Amino acid sequence: MLEGAWSERKPAMDMTGEEFRKYGYQVVDWIANYLDHVGELPVLSQLAPGSIKDMQPNHAPQHGESMEQVLADIDRVILPGVTHWNHPAFFAYFAISGSAPGILGEMFAAALNVNAMMWRTSPAATELEEVTVSWLRNLIGLPDEFGGVIYDTASISTLVAIAGAREAVPGLRVREEGLAAPQSAAKVAKAASDSAAPLTAPPRLRLYCSEQTHSSIDKAAITLGLGLAGVRKVPTDSEFRMEPAALQQAINEDRADGWLPFCVVATVGTTSTTSIDPIPAIADISERENLWLHVDAAYGGSAAVVPEMRWVLQGAERADSLVLNPHKWMFVPVDLSVLFCRRMDVLGRAFSLVPEYLSAPGADQVMNFMDYGPQLGRRFRAIKLWFVLRHYGAEGLAKRIRNHIHLAREFAGWVDTSEAFERMAPTPLSTVCFRARPRDLGEESSVYQKSPDQCEAYLDKLNETLMANVNQEGKCFLSHTKLNGKFALRLAIGNIRTARKHVEMVWDVLQTEADRLDGTIRPAHLSRH
Ligand code: PLP
Repeated sequence: MLEGAWSERKPAMDMTGEEFRKYGYQVVDWIANYLDHVGELPVLSQLAPGSIKDMQPNHAPQHGESMEQVLADIDRVILPGVTHWNHPAFFAYFAISGSAPGILGEMFAAALNVNAMMWRTSPAATELEEVTVSWLRNLIGLPDEFGGVIYDTASISTLVAIAGAREAVPGLRVREEGLAAPQSAAKVAKAASDSAAPLTAPPRLRLYCSEQTHSSIDKAAITLGLGLAGVRKVPTDSEFRMEPAALQQAINEDRADGWLPFCVVATVGTTSTTSIDPIPAIADISERENLWLHVDAAYGGSAAVVPEMRWVLQGAERADSLVLNPHKWMFVPVDLSVLFCRRMDVLGRAFSLVPEYLSAPGADQVMNFMDYGPQLGRRFRAIKLWFVLRHYGAEGLAKRIRNHIHLAREFAGWVDTSEAFERMAPTPLSTVCFRARPRDLGEESSVYQKSPDQCEAYLDKLNETLMANVNQEGKCFLSHTKLNGKFALRLAIGNIRTARKHVEMVWDVLQTEADRLDGTIRPAHLSRH
């Protein structure tokens, strides 16, 4: 027999308002204090793997614990295991921000806890998503024909865009038949007797992107059943931008070989170097070849908010879809990615599926975001974007992003004039690729001329160790990439709290440590004679 209903017992099912207020104020105080002092913490967590797990029991507690105990463990258990993405000297990957207005917006999303799957499950969530997506579209200068939808990440936005691209291929019917569906005997017979439709097996689809494209494109291809073979990587020029002539050649070769080209992905702000593909030339080819053009502007698209940087999206108005992540460089806490699409009807065709239990009166009069992607349940993400856009305004966002670009250019200038470092790529946005390279190991030097491979191997080791040591010290955090086979450091500026003093600090730390290391680990045969 069931015991008495909860409601008849004490305490209440959830905290009382009084209790919530008490702990809520403590949490807000904690967050405010954290944001004020995060710069004093080591950026990269110093914990060994397993440390957090070791501090936790194997089972959830049998009896509830007090909120005092739980909150105390934020400092004791959680904080040491946090790599502080909110740290002003976080320069790894693409630096991001949990800005104060964004955090406040998140609180409302959690408190309201609505599911934005369709309009009537929360009109405010749906309509605010339409509003914020349209504001953002205006801010970056995309035309009104683009609709939009908010997802968690660019990886998912791109997956949805490529599914749309596939749906747009006439006659393919992947939604109905599947990619690997064997043709029915009747269909095969019909195809055999009908020379206008001789298709007996689905053609192999091919997508084009540059060799610098983010791995999310490959992952989308894996997920959508295109396979990695369905992605053709187009070579880039000396500045890591897709070569349009090579794209055209790849398409021609593939058509001759029986592939079915269907999509091109161009990037504005590639992950390694932030290079910007020549979208106008790529759009010319996509239009001529009737291919869906998706622009990955996950990071770089934010720069278009700065009026004098609008050019980064030049040509993107001709794309079919474009992804921009406000959670990367627009001060919105993770996660929030916007997929813009000028062919929302095609996304609807690819994904809309309304079972009886989700049908609603008047559903065709309103936006139901569940119709434009694989997921049903959706967080109220738009509210934090709304907070950020309203609190900073177009001018405030532009000012902050412009400042990051300026700081990156300053840092690039220091590298360029240094005798111990060199730049590894142009710096069009707010990320600098560079490496330590002692002057006497320059390409013109006799040591380098004599043993270039050994010099390069040493430079890789020097930079890898430099990065490891600097990150271990905890004052700042950088990540790396490989460019033309060479180990390159990346300094990505994107945190809202990053100021010039943090960039100066990392430059000092790098110079001192590079000098010390070069004096310590350089092999004798590469030393100056
Ligand atoms: N596209 C680019 C250019 C990126 O740099 C990244 C991540 O850094 C992504 C896509 C994937 O972003 P997300 O983590 O939102 O999936």
